[in-house]
Amino acid sequence: MSKFQDNIRIIPRAAKVTAWIVSLGCAILIGILSTFPPDHSQPIPMVGRILLPLLAFAVLFIYIHLIGYVNGDSKRRGMRHVMWTLLAIFIPDAIGIILYFILRDAMPVTCPSCGTSVLSKFTFCPNCGTSVKPTCPHCGKAVDLAWTHCAHCGSTLPGHIPRTA
Ligand SMILES: [Zn+2]
Ligand SMILES: [Zn+2]
Repeated sequence: MSKFQDNIRIIPRAAKVTAWIVSLGCAILIGILSTFPPDHSQPIPMVGRILLPLLAFAVLFIYIHLIGYVNGDSKRRGMRHVMWTLLAIFIPDAIGIILYFILRDAMPVTCPSCGTSVLSKFTFCPNCGTSVKPTCPHCGKAVDLAWTHCAHCGSTLPGHIPRTA
């Protein structure tokens, strides 16, 4: 399955249904209002009567799907998905959605030993205790492969020749 299909799959069904209903409803309403203006003024030109509802439909449809994506994606990344979904809905101009994409946690990794999905904030598999990240042999905390010394306890990491002053 492609990455795009994978991402579509995590959007909750409720969000997909809501997207169809709200977008179609708004498009129909705008279509009616632009054909029969409530103040009995001249109806807007035909091009506008077609384009406005289409535009409203597209914007709402994508917007609601993005909110659904934030919900499903934050859940699979072990983040506070209720809070992020509410931020995506209530912060105007899609700023909540943009913030989410900037601040989201990394994807969980699969434990090489038992296959459990391990959240990115963890160093060891909660199911079998296998280390899923390189760790410091001295203090056991996660370290970066580029480090020469552990940032937590200061010991020299194996694979690196101690630097002479
Ligand atoms: Zn495991
Ligand atoms: Zn250490």
